[in-house]
Amino acid sequence: MSIKPNTVVSLTYELHTTNEEGQQVFVEKADEQNALVFLYGTGMMLPKFEEHLAGLNVGDEYGFELTAADGYGELDPGAFADLPIDMFKEAGLPAVGDVIPLQDNQGNHFRAGVTAIHETAVSVDLNHPMAGKNLIFAGKILTVREATQEELSHGHAHGADGHEGH
Ligand SMILES: [Zn+2]
Repeated sequence: MSIKPNTVVSLTYELHTTNEEGQQVFVEKADEQNALVFLYGTGMMLPKFEEHLAGLNVGDEYGFELTAADGYGELDPGAFADLPIDMFKEAGLPAVGDVIPLQDNQGNHFRAGVTAIHETAVSVDLNHPMAGKNLIFAGKILTVREATQEELSHGHAHGADGHEGH
């Protein structure tokens, strides 16, 4: 069976990006022991990621690169903010590199990376951690099967064999 909408795919992957010097930098991976399992064609994965896997079969190896625009988007220069230092009176000051949870006045939750601590403000980056980065994927297709009715009604995979709980 080849990969098409409403199949459950398990695969290995290695994700690299490219740094400013043009060298590949390792980001994360999933090997055969903790394969990535997903219901193909439901929009849970990056659309361009799924596009590159269409029609592949069990045992096929793949490798492709997505631009930042096809990945997690370009870096948004408007997504940087200075938070008044008084906000941290109770919780205590974060450190540069920390990721802190924030909530806007509409109640939306998001995560911000701390980029600098100033005397009166904490500078944060609200971009997705992979925004502005190219994504280089490589891996192997481990299994492909039809999704069960239950998986289709839930909109997600129940493990590689379809019997995993959640
Ligand atoms: Zn379910």
